[in-house]
Amino acid sequence: MKSYHANEKGYYGEFGGAFIPEMLYPNCEELRQNYLKIMAEPSFKEEFDQLLKDYVGRPTPLYFAERLSNKYGTKIYLKREDLCHTGAHKVNNTIGQILMAKRLGKNRIIAETGAGQHGVATATVCALMGIECVVYMGEIDIARQAPNVARMKMLGAEVRPALSGSRTLKDATNEAIRDWINNPVDTHYIIGSVVGPHPYPDMVARFQSVISEEIKWQLKEKEGRENPDYVVACVGGGSNAAGAYYHYLDEPEVGIIAVEAAGKGIDTGESAATSALGKVGIIHGSKTLLMQTPDGQITEPYSISAGLDYPGVGPMHAHLFTSKRGEFISITDDDAMQAGLELCKLEGIIPAIETSHALAIFDQKQFKKDDVVVINLSGRGDKDLQNFIDYFKL
Ligand SMILES: *Cc1c(COP(=O)(O)O)cnc(C)c1O
Repeated sequence: MKSYHANEKGYYGEFGGAFIPEMLYPNCEELRQNYLKIMAEPSFKEEFDQLLKDYVGRPTPLYFAERLSNKYGTKIYLKREDLCHTGAHKVNNTIGQILMAKRLGKNRIIAETGAGQHGVATATVCALMGIECVVYMGEIDIARQAPNVARMKMLGAEVRPALSGSRTLKDATNEAIRDWINNPVDTHYIIGSVVGPHPYPDMVARFQSVISEEIKWQLKEKEGRENPDYVVACVGGGSNAAGAYYHYLDEPEVGIIAVEAAGKGIDTGESAATSALGKVGIIHGSKTLLMQTPDGQITEPYSISAGLDYPGVGPMHAHLFTSKRGEFISITDDDAMQAGLELCKLEGIIPAIETSHALAIFDQKQFKKDDVVVINLSGRGDKDLQNFIDYFKL
């Protein structure tokens, strides 16, 4: 049977792999040789599950959104990742990777962050484990994301500014890679989404797969069946989506809907709609779809939501797009902001702006009355308050 999971070389169809400089080979190879073995150890599983339960607060509820459902004439469930400790799904992965790092004998963690959400999730688990943490962040992003910089510092992390290039995420990534090359023995690099060289996309997808594992039994309790008609998630790099789709990838009767950020519109030159605009290329060690100029220079993405502002997409999603297993929808800033506010008014839940994109699909996509539509509510909107204030002049 055709599978939409990664093969043992880390390929999803033609996408994925590990396109890395030779200097990085030993680091990735150590991880590749060990990650499945370690994840299969009963003691690893036990510790991971215990922390997800007692520290993260899992299982997160699967909530039937009655007023939202009535408005759109279909059955809408929200998977409440916004209720995870730190306010989003990212911590599922950082818990998994810190345990992985410990098993590999690493006593130092590095990460890169753009908006700061992954940096905060990483600093959080390093504090939990008493492990040294260095987060690379572009100098411009440090200025733009002051509250998250403060959070990381309070949690005991060192935030190192990336001073080269555009002084944003990609420059921070370059600095983190340089650090890892120089410290291959004691350091683990925690990547925050289903991106990067093999085995990261598959490893991160597995750590996030707890989302769809829970949806299955929760939906069985509520609807008498494990499979929804559709599962919907926003896609930046694609980790919350990968987690929500994971146990449904090879169940063809479950529709997969991926929502990307159209920014000011996909034809405006200011967007992050990678599937619509991307071409095959290599970014951060992975062959995937990415936004680039005709001569292969990476295009600067734009979205009102910092977490969707990535010029590539994980290889799983590139494959879901080109194979047509997934349906890809792009949502503008304006439509996302309205959908976010609508959820506040209809359900008393303030969503992250990333998540608000997924909530905005109902104007573009019609569902039947009996359809069960599960939307992954990837995060809460507290971090986005200033954006909401500025946009709606609150
Ligand atoms: C970081 C983030 C995203 C985007 O990242 P993915 O890897 O695509 O999931 C989406 N939602 C929230 C709340 C985030 O913090």
